[in-house]
Amino acid sequence: MLLEKLGEEKVILDPRLTKDRRRDTWVMSILDELQGNPPDSPRCVVRPVSTEDVVHVVNACRETRTPLIPFGLGSGVCGGVRTFCAAVVLDMSSMNRIRAIDVDDLTVTLEAGVRGVDAEEALGKRGLTLGHYPQSMELSTVGGWVATRSSGQFSTAYGSIEEMVLALEVVLPWGDVFRGRLTPRAAAGPDLKHLFLGSEGSLGVITAVTLSVRWRPQSRALGAFHAPTMETGLEAQRYVIQSGWTPAVMRQYDPTEAQRLFPEHTRGDEALILVVHEGPASMVEAERASCRRLMEEAGCSEAAEEAARKWLEERNKVVGFEPFLKAGLILDTVEVASTWSRISRIYRRVIESLRGVEGLLVASAHSSHCYRSGVNLYFTFAAKPPEPSKRGEVYWECWRRIMEATLDEGGSIVHHHGIGRVRKPWLPHEIGQSGVGLLRALKRALDPFDIMNPEVLIPDD
Ligand SMILES: Cc1cc2nc3c(=O)[nH]c(=O)nc-3n(C[C@H](O)[C@H](O)[C@H](O)COP(=O)(O)OP(=O)(O)OC[C@H]3O[C@@H](n4cnc5c(N)ncnc54)[C@H](O)[C@@H]3O)c2cc1C
Repeated sequence: MLLEKLGEEKVILDPRLTKDRRRDTWVMSILDELQGNPPDSPRCVVRPVSTEDVVHVVNACRETRTPLIPFGLGSGVCGGVRTFCAAVVLDMSSMNRIRAIDVDDLTVTLEAGVRGVDAEEALGKRGLTLGHYPQSMELSTVGGWVATRSSGQFSTAYGSIEEMVLALEVVLPWGDVFRGRLTPRAAAGPDLKHLFLGSEGSLGVITAVTLSVRWRPQSRALGAFHAPTMETGLEAQRYVIQSGWTPAVMRQYDPTEAQRLFPEHTRGDEALILVVHEGPASMVEAERASCRRLMEEAGCSEAAEEAARKWLEERNKVVGFEPFLKAGLILDTVEVASTWSRISRIYRRVIESLRGVEGLLVASAHSSHCYRSGVNLYFTFAAKPPEPSKRGEVYWECWRRIMEATLDEGGSIVHHHGIGRVRKPWLPHEIGQSGVGLLRALKRALDPFDIMNPEVLIPDD
């Protein structure tokens, strides 16, 4: 049916060609693959080049009750993509045109499969920037950002993806195309685009995204500070933000990460805060001076700004999980968030709890996204169980400890990576049974045959 309608170029059946569309970058899927147990190949991979193509695929899948898994570039880290033999993968990477750039309204309309760096390069030629720079800029698509509620490294000033999206085009599970109106704001009932922000492919296929963009900043300045303890540094960051300053970047590494990543700039057993200020030159200078004063008043002291330069230069270099998995380790990163009053306790509880795991080698964290009312924490764990076969068990034990300690202390189980498969067991604790009921009701109403990425996000009945 699909082959007849769309042709061989767009419908790929050969398992040798579809095999790199079987999973995202979730550690457990990589481990399974390394252990010779990869996810089953999908029935086929379809590469649409237009919204009309996507409508055909969605209609065909609905009529035949075939599960459909949207795929951006597979950089998700939560198991949002993991194929099985009944499924069709909808590879969005050929829908990669830039539909319009408007330099008066400061908007860009991108097809969902446009890669982050390509969007940024096209905007850069016009003196513009997205202001959204996830570490996976080269590895992810605009549609993927919306589907996972992504957050970029400069979000403290520029906001996360939900603050940039002005309008979406979405193919709904019954084949209609929803096109949001291009407006900076409307009070036309609930904002329907928010149904798809974070929907992880389970409620429809995002085919185009209009983002509000910005002129490239006139000026940039850097700062770095030693914080005697994690708590002191978090308090210092709170003072800065709550005083009305919004540095583009304000990150704090705990002593373990500071020593590992910035040994030459770290003082003893202290935490390290890095700051990037961007904007009009006069604002940057004022923000830098005030930030320095507030940090010092809070008990931090100035460090070499070279540390922030190093972070800027190296921030997107990633080693990836494979070499560690091949060396017999199990590891992952887990981001959570909370209000300022709870965040230090969450940090202590999680680190302490992880230390009780058999074979644990690393338990560390940094903060990277600040808000007036709170901040995130991004934990890293690595362990080497005595027997490699125990890695799955140890993995889930680490996740359980992080999730439970965070929830016990009143935090939120996720900041920006999404739910996918890995966080599904804890979602009911995050949103409550009424939240789960609401999510299931939405899913039933929009996708009654459960064709859209059926195994992710929504807790099983
Ligand atoms: C090295 C590395 C660094 C990262 N850094 C960051 C970071 O700084 N910030 C951040 O937020 N995330 C980060 N991530 C996570 C990841 O890049 C994001 O979740 C990203 O948004 C996923 O985009 P993708 O196009 O690769 O989507 P995929 O991984 O292909 O898909 C992710 C989910 O979205 C769904 N989906 C994808 N496209 C569509 C569509 N068009 N319509 C409907 N559903 C769709 C999929 O079904 C899946 O459930 C990082 C990942 C890696 C590996």
